[in-house]
Amino acid sequence: MSTFELAQPVATERGQAMHQWMAELYPICRSITGDGLRETLGLIGQQIPLEVKGVRSGTQVFDWTINDEWNVRDAYIADLDGHRLVDFRAHNLHLVNYSVPVRDRLSLEELRPHLHTLPEHPDWIPYRTTYYSRSWGFCLPHLRLETLGAGPFDVMIDTSLAPGELNYGELVIPGEEEAEVIISAHVCHPSLANDNLSGIAVATELAKALLAAGHRRYTYRFLFAPGTIGSIAWLSEHPDDWPRVRHGLVLTGLGGAGRLVYKRTRHGSRLIDRAAAHVVDRSGGEIRDYSPYGYDERQYNSVGFDLPVGRLSRTPHGEYPEYHTSADNLDFVTAEELGASYEAVWEIIQILERDRTYRNLSPYGEPQLGKRGLYPTVGGRAANDAVMAMLWTLGYSDGQHSLLHIAEVSALDFNSIDEAVGKLVGAHLLERI
Ligand code: ZN
Repeated sequence: MSTFELAQPVATERGQAMHQWMAELYPICRSITGDGLRETLGLIGQQIPLEVKGVRSGTQVFDWTINDEWNVRDAYIADLDGHRLVDFRAHNLHLVNYSVPVRDRLSLEELRPHLHTLPEHPDWIPYRTTYYSRSWGFCLPHLRLETLGAGPFDVMIDTSLAPGELNYGELVIPGEEEAEVIISAHVCHPSLANDNLSGIAVATELAKALLAAGHRRYTYRFLFAPGTIGSIAWLSEHPDDWPRVRHGLVLTGLGGAGRLVYKRTRHGSRLIDRAAAHVVDRSGGEIRDYSPYGYDERQYNSVGFDLPVGRLSRTPHGEYPEYHTSADNLDFVTAEELGASYEAVWEIIQILERDRTYRNLSPYGEPQLGKRGLYPTVGGRAANDAVMAMLWTLGYSDGQHSLLHIAEVSALDFNSIDEAVGKLVGAHLLERI
């Protein structure tokens, strides 16, 4: 059995654990502020030693101002007999996120501008927000809208918008170097599984694995923050920290159908871009250039910070019909996809950790591998690949080219180059710069 086959059940087990944990997070009504956000950070904090920070409403963070805190107790549209026709308690997507309080009796005509549906998917509930303009609304299946009747309806939104704070969670795992790898996931979406929870689950799993690892080259900073405003708040509050960010990944949308998609940093050829491309290419995934639209990579890559942060997802936002609807649920994200996404992230991190530059200590002609026991006496594909990895490593280890470069020019897997290094260092044919 190959190591690849052996790895599969492990990945699935990990994926199942992530999926089960997502089921705990799924019902919570999150937003960019409020109790649901804090509860979510609290649940992440049960998995990893997360530090939860708060930024007060009204605080200026670069060009943005921290909003009033939003909390919701209840919301519904009912008939005059009190039957709830659209009920926040049945699904938190029913209420437009950040809706102001309302208590009114309205006809369908008066209510209609506040109702959002998806006629092309008549049984799905859309996800809508109104963070930065004071408004309100309900989202419902189009089929339900068609059966509402003319009204009148009792409309009740029991929410509060008041000074409070915006929260984010941070975990710093120290490494041998002060240089940091930032792993960022947004935590502001309510009951949506792929867009939000899959990234949270994979990032949390990665943090657990790095905490358990005996040795880390880089310092890792995990940031679980509300989209846009949360990462901007972190950047604003950490002027001494962000210059240390050497590599980074935004993790989001890592379940759902589709192959892995890596979005490059703005410069496009940073080490994280090359490491991710190496892994994603080999998984049959796709590499895309940077664009200033998307998730929090657009904050990190903005010209002022210019941080080398790429983004890993599967089918990107807006390109699958379930995106920002109730169909992005726990059935849409599978344990297998979560497990495979995690493995890809782990491989990318391993390349960052292990990409070093070596010098060939026997540079005058090809060293005789046979007399050092490095040349296989039995042939075969695997044996041949192992020899090729040693020859490529010796052939390019001039003190200038790193292992990832050698993997790129040889078209061999980074791991096979890394294994060759182990043997060659052991045989005193190679030394690290
Ligand atoms: Zn989203």
